[in-house]
Amino acid sequence: MVCLKCGETLSAGLKFCTKCGLKIQPSGERLLKVSGILFIIFGVIGITRWRSNILGLISLGHAFNFRSILGTITIIITTIILNIIIGILGVRYSRNIEKAKLLKFFAIIAILFNGFWLVLGFIDSFRFDFMYFINFVNIILFVNIILSICFLIGAQKNLKIKGGK
Ligand SMILES: [Zn+2]
Repeated sequence: MVCLKCGETLSAGLKFCTKCGLKIQPSGERLLKVSGILFIIFGVIGITRWRSNILGLISLGHAFNFRSILGTITIIITTIILNIIIGILGVRYSRNIEKAKLLKFFAIIAILFNGFWLVLGFIDSFRFDFMYFINFVNIILFVNIILSICFLIGAQKNLKIKGGK
């Protein structure tokens, strides 16, 4: 990393330039922090609600055509775990450009993971009523994808700083 003001070569994780004192802010920091915190919040909300959500879906009597009850539980639990892991990593390493690649990796995993379930749900809903597609699980998956994209952009921004050495 190079100081934008004086050009001094700096090691990662510094808050100020050691030569001129310029405040160093990796450009993806804010995005990673905000999306990371939202990931944690959604994860925690998921934990407090997943049981009632599953019971709610069962009582509605739908969404268990293609996906079994076990499948839905798997989606919800793994989504919660992934959310919290990504959230913690994002907040912790938001200004650590050395970890930007790791954050990017997790963001891509999250996009693929949530996207996979969402596409399955979408295909599935065509066989029944399209309104079935709009349910709690799919909304969470969709929000997770949006968050993951923000997270990916943040990580990519931090990676670029490293590349500009
Ligand atoms: Zn400087």
